[in-house]
Amino acid sequence: MTILQVMSPLNASPSQILLSKPQIPSNSVYLPAVDLYRHPRLSSCYSSSKSNFNLVRKHSICSGFTVTCSANDSAKTTNEKPEYVREKSVSVVLLAGGQGKRMGASMPKQYLPLLGQPIALYSFYTFSRMREVKEIVVVCDPSYQDIFEDARDNISVDLKFALPGKERQDSVFSGLQSIDLASELVCIHDSARPLVTSGDVLKVLNDGLRVGASVLGVPAKATIKEGNSESFVVKTLDRKTLWEMQTPQVIKPDLLKKGFELVNREGLEVTDDVSIVEHLKHPVYITQGSYTNIKVTTPDDLLLAERILNNDSFVPA
Ligand code: C5P
Repeated sequence: MTILQVMSPLNASPSQILLSKPQIPSNSVYLPAVDLYRHPRLSSCYSSSKSNFNLVRKHSICSGFTVTCSANDSAKTTNEKPEYVREKSVSVVLLAGGQGKRMGASMPKQYLPLLGQPIALYSFYTFSRMREVKEIVVVCDPSYQDIFEDARDNISVDLKFALPGKERQDSVFSGLQSIDLASELVCIHDSARPLVTSGDVLKVLNDGLRVGASVLGVPAKATIKEGNSESFVVKTLDRKTLWEMQTPQVIKPDLLKKGFELVNREGLEVTDDVSIVEHLKHPVYITQGSYTNIKVTTPDDLLLAERILNNDSFVPA
């Protein structure tokens, strides 16, 4: 689980916002002001109407919370149409190259049956039905390619394959080599997350287009403590600033390529994709996703995924 800390006082009010040039600390994320009023944990700070809100948000920063207006801001005031992700402009890199040893099963967890269908095929079909998606590059061991090949007739996007690497980031790099050069966004998804909804994917794609890099996340529910090597508590992190990271993670291809150049040159290890972009000091936007977008890691998760799928109110696509 990747937890991200956002440098933001969640109890700030608009009057506390100081007008200044945006300064984005390397360990913070960029949250465009236009989205603050609909941010579930910040909306109480912005109870004023959207038009009043627009008056206070231009390049403002409130004690560590970076607030920068985005292209969508001007679109709101000039009646221009906001920019949306174009049809067939997204390359999905579907990661299915891991071993999933924690599941203790005879095959990698992403191929285990979930209500009779391999886990990896759930998100595969969700992406394949989205008009924004041009192609899906499945990163997997060749011995599992037939699972996706057999589904080819049911989908209307291009299907490609890439070989997995030793670590997750090597598999992402491998998938990146196969994407269409004309793609505007790369959307990287763990196939072990079968329950991502197309609504959440669309939100994170739109944010990725606007900011350059975005990731689905949910506010951390648990209290997270930092410990030392002897298992003693070092400190308790402020839960209000913590987010649990999910996938998809969406990045503009050029940015991801530049990030990989840096990571490879400096031998940096990264556990998720937007960290590659964070190393470039480029802002990354957290799009609030759903708690149901679980990663199937242990047998308990498989049971939970079944229950979510059986719940009538769950709409995956
Ligand atoms: O191991 P973990 O759960 O973090 O893996 C996340 C996703 O990345 C899984 O879908 C897994 O199949 C994929 N992966 C990969 N290549 C690796 C390691 C993991 O494609 N070398």
